[in-house]
Amino acid sequence: MTKVIVTGGSGLVGNAIQKIANIHKQYNFIFLNSSDCDLTCMRDTRIVFEKHQPEYVIHLAANVGGLYKNMNNKVDMLESNLMMNLNVLKCCHEFKVKRCISCLSTCIFPDNISYPIDESMLHDGPPHNSNDSYAYSKRMLDVQSKAYRDNHGDDFRCIIPTNIYGTHDNYNLQNAHVIPALIHKCYLSKKNNEPFKVCGTGKPLRQFIFADDLAYLILRTVETDESFSNIILSVPENDEISIADVARKIARCFDYEHMIAFDNTYSDGQYKKTVDNSTLTRYIKFEFTSIDKGIQESVNWFVENYDNNIRL
Ligand code: NAP
Ligand code: GDP
Repeated sequence: MTKVIVTGGSGLVGNAIQKIANIHKQYNFIFLNSSDCDLTCMRDTRIVFEKHQPEYVIHLAANVGGLYKNMNNKVDMLESNLMMNLNVLKCCHEFKVKRCISCLSTCIFPDNISYPIDESMLHDGPPHNSNDSYAYSKRMLDVQSKAYRDNHGDDFRCIIPTNIYGTHDNYNLQNAHVIPALIHKCYLSKKNNEPFKVCGTGKPLRQFIFADDLAYLILRTVETDESFSNIILSVPENDEISIADVARKIARCFDYEHMIAFDNTYSDGQYKKTVDNSTLTRYIKFEFTSIDKGIQESVNWFVENYDNNIRL
């Protein structure tokens, strides 16, 4: 069996890969979290690579969160992500890993850019000010992967997912991404019969991918013979949706649509970052989970697991 290390194995995407790991019997997956190894520490990272001797690495681990976490934790997000990525790729090279797939994000693309955005535009201008630290740390992951490819022939590639949501997410009210934050808020609002407060105007537009769909696509990129270095993993452009519509869908799942309130004192962040998924659709034929179904599943999971020690 081929040994595959998945860093960030306890996170939103790591859990989605765990769900389908058993149908990929050719792989022996090792799902790592921060208690197995602090990837910001080179010594610990080397120890874990020495122990497992992986052939493939899916590098998901990151210090990641929503708009307000990005705005308020710039130093920590820049430094911890730079350190983790430096250590993981260095060890992938030292331990002769056959393929390393690392995770970027569509929010790291330039802010002032023409739409739709494609893979070639990653370094064509500064990212949005709200998340520049996270964005530059992720852009360096692309630079580092290319350096290893160019000088050593290492098969180090990057995937670029759009906004992700699903079960096992981070639901922290201050730090989470918009969908898990709004699921948690709506749950509490209904419980306390209070307004369901959405931050900002609700006007920004986003593309959302269900984590289970992303997990499937990531495993396809592990196996593919295609020679791309970066690939956007997103739903199509016309599935883009406003934050206000997302909030309404979440409220509908809770049967609590009558008390939605938009709090304009909060920043809206980037207005949009519409990406073109045609590289993906050229390689893989895939039917995405509809956002209605994905949100309903995510809400159901949250409600069922609220008392089970989930990330709140
Ligand atoms: P997540 O749920 O926040 O999980 C983060 C994972 O990283 C956890 O397994 C965590 O382990 C691990 N981790 C954090 N710091 C670590 C450290 N110092 N050492 C070792 N492990 C550490 O993240 P996610 O949402 O699944 O994101 C996965 C990847 O997708 C990330 O690279 C992220 O940048 C990217 N991405 C996410 C989104 C999104 O909307 N969520 C969108 C685009 C791209 P513990 O559980 O032990 O803390
Ligand atoms: P982004 O897509 O990288 O900007 O990150 P998010 O997933 O955090 O989405 C941010 C967008 O959702 C912004 O337009 C926010 O104003 C809006 N939003 C509305 N309510 C919330 C909330 O409670 N938390 C977060 N993170 N964003 C919210």
